[in-house]
Amino acid sequence: MTVKTMKRPTTTKNNLQAFPCVPLCPLWLKIGLALPLAVIQLNTAACTEETSANATASAAAKSETPTTLAAPEAATDNAPLPHIDSKRAFQYTREVTAFGPRYMGNENHKKLERYILGHLKDDHLKGDQVEDDAFTADTVEGKFPVRNIIAKFPGTKDGVIVILGHYDTVYPLRNSGFVGANDGGSSTAILLEYANQLRGGGAGKKRDGYSVWLVWTDGEEAVRQWSATDSLYGTRHIAEKWEKDGTLKRIKALMVMDMIADADLDIVRDSNSAPWLLDLIYAAAERLGYQSHFYASQGPIEDDHLPFVKRGVPSADVIDLNYGYNNVFHHTPQDTMDKLSPKSLEIVGDTILETIHLLDQR
Ligand SMILES: [Zn+2]
Repeated sequence: MTVKTMKRPTTTKNNLQAFPCVPLCPLWLKIGLALPLAVIQLNTAACTEETSANATASAAAKSETPTTLAAPEAATDNAPLPHIDSKRAFQYTREVTAFGPRYMGNENHKKLERYILGHLKDDHLKGDQVEDDAFTADTVEGKFPVRNIIAKFPGTKDGVIVILGHYDTVYPLRNSGFVGANDGGSSTAILLEYANQLRGGGAGKKRDGYSVWLVWTDGEEAVRQWSATDSLYGTRHIAEKWEKDGTLKRIKALMVMDMIADADLDIVRDSNSAPWLLDLIYAAAERLGYQSHFYASQGPIEDDHLPFVKRGVPSADVIDLNYGYNNVFHHTPQDTMDKLSPKSLEIVGDTILETIHLLDQR
């Protein structure tokens, strides 16, 4: 995932903190060897254009201020609020991270594939509810096996809500000690916990609402340097496939979970996402009292939702890209379990489950 320009408003509706320019920009260039170029540019630009960027961002914040427009339908709803098992989700994160580097096709990646499939088997999903989207990606670093794993939970309503999270880690960092606890680990884990939540009434029972599909995506990360052709291998493939077979038309909403376990949780309002869906997520967060963790910063983010956004699917990226002060833990060996919190998994996990509930009512 990467950002072209991250706008950091000094004031927002939520009145969250300003992000002053820090004298650490050259550090980014050092770390930057392993970072997407666009992220480095973002940081450099943020340092040199702070004043005008803030002015632009403030204007954007006014027009894009999160609203509570979705709240009326929520107000008449007496359903109990969702609650994931955050200790269990955190334990999944720990176990996934313990596999070590998990880039496309390596041995740890294969172990993780078996771990995910084993979990789905334990959830008593029938054979036809678990699908593979496997292919070979031709990249600037050679050919890699890519495998998206899909678990389908059928619903009573016609239409599908898709939740995606990548499980691969960064190939260029394979020998650096990078284990991707947050970046790769947390997204894998929250989907495993969602599988527990969604199996609900047991095998064969439909959920009361839209079908929900969980997709563990592969090859989200670049193998050399982030670009339109070196990134999002798994989702570019599956979006094209779903376009051809008509699946995309059935998707009511699609949400990507990425880097969601930072103990200091601050979900970015991504301007590549559908505003109405971001507003619905915010309304869900408000119902749970978690809204202060959403949308203090905003900007266009490139992540697994893009191949679907480009094809007109209503999509949202749920990501915290302020991972450590000035995002210093992102794509570094410091992305480890001690930076994470079960509470953050709970905040995001419950909020997106509640968003699914609100979508079911539409
Ligand atoms: Zn990443």
